[in-house]
Amino acid sequence: MLNIILFGAPGCGKGTQAELLKKKYGVEHISTGAVIRSEIERGTELGLSMQEYIAKGELAPDSIVVGMVKNYICEHRDAKGNIFDGFPRTTAQAEAFDRLLSEEGLSVSVMIYMDVPEQELVNRILLRGKDSGRADDASEDIIRNRIEIYRAQTAIVADYYSKQGKYVAIDGVGTLDEVFARICEAIDNCAK
Ligand code: ADP
Repeated sequence: MLNIILFGAPGCGKGTQAELLKKKYGVEHISTGAVIRSEIERGTELGLSMQEYIAKGELAPDSIVVGMVKNYICEHRDAKGNIFDGFPRTTAQAEAFDRLLSEEGLSVSVMIYMDVPEQELVNRILLRGKDSGRADDASEDIIRNRIEIYRAQTAIVADYYSKQGKYVAIDGVGTLDEVFARICEAIDNCAK
């Protein structure tokens, strides 16, 4: 089973590329951010407990996010493959993820890092915020905070997969098709 982690700073284009990859490879997709937003919209207890983190651009607690991914994995045992978008975001999440997968006899196939410069990230998110309605996309301060948190807590997760020989970096700047072609090449290489 192909288990792909799409990795990169907020606004690097993970969600957009995940949609294209689903079509091409027939895989399933989880965005932990989207799951959290849906919990908040539905007003669940879990959603309410996470509202404050998201609004400030901070990370939700590892235990909650890992629980969401665990549910997802249990519900997608028959999938041809999966894209994990926005997860793992801390080393603790990566460790828990490895344990979850190995309990199912699975493992991460590849982590693909989409490299995009900071100013481009901010521009893209501000543009997206005009119609996404996401509170965390609306203010430049919150966006910069999310990028700061990415640098402080998330970027290091690349080392975790690099040590396992599973890390590939691609240039995330270019047209959708150009970036997509780079990601497909990385996936096809790891599947060989
Ligand atoms: P982006 O990649 O643009 O930041 P996401 O939809 O991936 O958007 O995430 C939005 C927010 O959801 C994050 O800022 C964070 O608060 C929360 N979140 C998403 N995934 C995780 C995770 N794996 N761990 C902790 N918090 C998360």
